[in-house]
Amino acid sequence: MTKVSLTRCDSYSNAELKDVIYESLENIGFDPSTFKNKRIAVKPNMLMPAKNEKAIMTHPEFFRAVVQIIKENKGKPFLIESPAVHSLARAIKKSGYAEIVESENLEVADPSTTKTLHFEEAQRYKHIEISSAYFDADMIVCLPKFKSHGITYMTGAVKLLFGGIYGPGKSKMHFRLPDHKDFSQFLLDLYGAFVHGFDPPKPILHIMDAIVVQEGEGPGPAGKPRTMNAVLAGKNGIAVDYVATKVAGLDIKKAPTISEGFKRGYGVTSKDEIEVVGDTIESLALSDFIPATGSSIMSNMFIWPLTTPMVKNLVVERPSPDPKKCTLCYQCMKICPAEAIGPAKKNGLTPEYDSKKCIRCYCCLEICPEAAVQKIRGRLQWVLELMF
Ligand code: SF4
Ligand code: SF4
Repeated sequence: MTKVSLTRCDSYSNAELKDVIYESLENIGFDPSTFKNKRIAVKPNMLMPAKNEKAIMTHPEFFRAVVQIIKENKGKPFLIESPAVHSLARAIKKSGYAEIVESENLEVADPSTTKTLHFEEAQRYKHIEISSAYFDADMIVCLPKFKSHGITYMTGAVKLLFGGIYGPGKSKMHFRLPDHKDFSQFLLDLYGAFVHGFDPPKPILHIMDAIVVQEGEGPGPAGKPRTMNAVLAGKNGIAVDYVATKVAGLDIKKAPTISEGFKRGYGVTSKDEIEVVGDTIESLALSDFIPATGSSIMSNMFIWPLTTPMVKNLVVERPSPDPKKCTLCYQCMKICPAEAIGPAKKNGLTPEYDSKKCIRCYCCLEICPEAAVQKIRGRLQWVLELMF
């Protein structure tokens, strides 16, 4: 049995967070004295610099509480993360993390130096470049934020480790794996590599910030904050994601990192092997959580013949920038793995999007700071929706 702690938490106050996180560790049988004298990589979700109210990042106060708990138990925490487009220094400076890094005198790892993590049992990629600082850690404490996600349906503990890949490498993987299911399989390879690839293996803890989560067009500025009032913890990321997804009331079958994750043999093969400790799923469950439209069956149908540009444009949502919101910051152009976004035409109000080149990864939607990128339905999408 894999234990997942689920505990109600109503605020980001330091006192409540620390109480709840200590209780969560106890629920899963983790002794905090394990932190003693260990160098601990603490990995939050810092997708991009953003205000806390947007619920894009792991809340800085959540991060602070975990760092303080590690220090109280004589561990040596350091911050590690690699945002999608911005530098880590900028993400820290523009968020509540800067004050914590300073007041806690925290080391920040350089994510740009990388090293290869080997994992022979991986299904697609047995050698993955990750930030080398993970190799220097004795233990990894992951702090995922629960959010809806346009590609993987939801993002949590498994998807968080995608941040282990240095910024530009992430776009490359989106381009190599435009099929959403293939991309999820790669995420599971990466998760497996973190769990089994280090020699000796590094203990990994997942402590999830699901107090204020994101619904709708997450996981970036287009997503909508939603109160879930939960903190989850576990040693198995797939199990933690399963419980969080159930609390959100979402369909596990649509979350490939969970449904396919059960088939990987990473310590949990079905829901029957998960023991929820603390509060019950039912006591915190949401009944009207809104998933991202990108996780609709249409968006995930990247199978022949739908991959041809013409058919794809007819039946799959295409990204389109809203001239009323766009500030021509070009962050979407920087992140686009397919080079499908070009400069604006003379006097144009948005960059030029080439829907033929677009692989529908929705990274532009995820990264746009103005939430200016919308999904436009294909003209014949309704026909296929009737069929499935
Ligand atoms: S669509 Fe968004 S990310 Fe792209 S240029 Fe406009 S504001 Fe920037
Ligand atoms: S235009 Fe947007 S959705 Fe299309 S490939 Fe580029 S980043 Fe991905």
